[in-house]
Amino acid sequence: MQNKMWLGSHVGMAAPDYYLGTVKEAISYGSTTFMFYTGAPQNSARTPISSLKIKEGRELLKNLGFDEAKLVVHAPYIINLANTIKPESFEFSTQFLLKELFRTASFGIRLLVLHPGSAVGGDEKEGLNQVVKGLDLALEEDKSDVIVCLETMAGKGKEVGKTFEEIAYIINNCKYKNRLGVCLDTCHINDAGYEVGDVDGILDEFDKTIGLDRLKVIHLNDSKNEKGSHKDRHENIGYGTIGFDVLLKWVHSERIKDVPKILETPWPSKDKAPYKEEISMLIEGSYIENWRDSL
Ligand code: FE
Ligand code: FE
Ligand code: ZN
Repeated sequence: MQNKMWLGSHVGMAAPDYYLGTVKEAISYGSTTFMFYTGAPQNSARTPISSLKIKEGRELLKNLGFDEAKLVVHAPYIINLANTIKPESFEFSTQFLLKELFRTASFGIRLLVLHPGSAVGGDEKEGLNQVVKGLDLALEEDKSDVIVCLETMAGKGKEVGKTFEEIAYIINNCKYKNRLGVCLDTCHINDAGYEVGDVDGILDEFDKTIGLDRLKVIHLNDSKNEKGSHKDRHENIGYGTIGFDVLLKWVHSERIKDVPKILETPWPSKDKAPYKEEISMLIEGSYIENWRDSL
């Protein structure tokens, strides 16, 4: 018997079925976990929690034997705690993070992935310090047990959190360390300059710098760009510079077998999700050449 694998993808949440539809979409791909946004990632309009069919979605999850501890919410991009140039942006971001923590807990979910942010026109060290401050402000007020999982970034522009050291700096300086974890994105670390094919080497370094017990989520993506490019453009499994064999090693590594793995790969066309095929190849461990052509 094969161990249970926690593998899924990013899924949508839309009217009229909202969370019930989210769960059904995940099931249609053969997923054992999933990740979603609780509202549009690029704006602040939010459907009230009471309209999101959370009870119906959770009922279905329970009947199917899903483990809610493996489910993930992604915080919207509009949160940027590292912007030291505009005080109103920091204030907005802290308040929105607080609301997002509450919304995540309302689904019975404990893992919230957050981009540490971008220092835009400011100093990166100051940006990092401000992320610490924003996390402290939000976590001081929030009463849930949701873990904020800081995502490893590609280092595009002035993005902070592009090295394990920067992520460790944020965690070690935060007052509420017990509420912090990490989301490792394979495309982002490749683009940031890490040797993503050396899974054990990277996990050793992660363990030494941050502590492997902090690793709560893996984003499993191929990359359109070379190692160290600082680009952040995801590619379908097997179509990028990382390749199927390396991503397969991440999926099947014993050391991170309990960590949920989420695909955020692009849709080949507007009505064709790639996830069912990607998930099945990664579970089976065998690659189908040109699989996108048959979608
Ligand atoms: Fe992300
Ligand atoms: Fe990601
Ligand atoms: Zn990305």
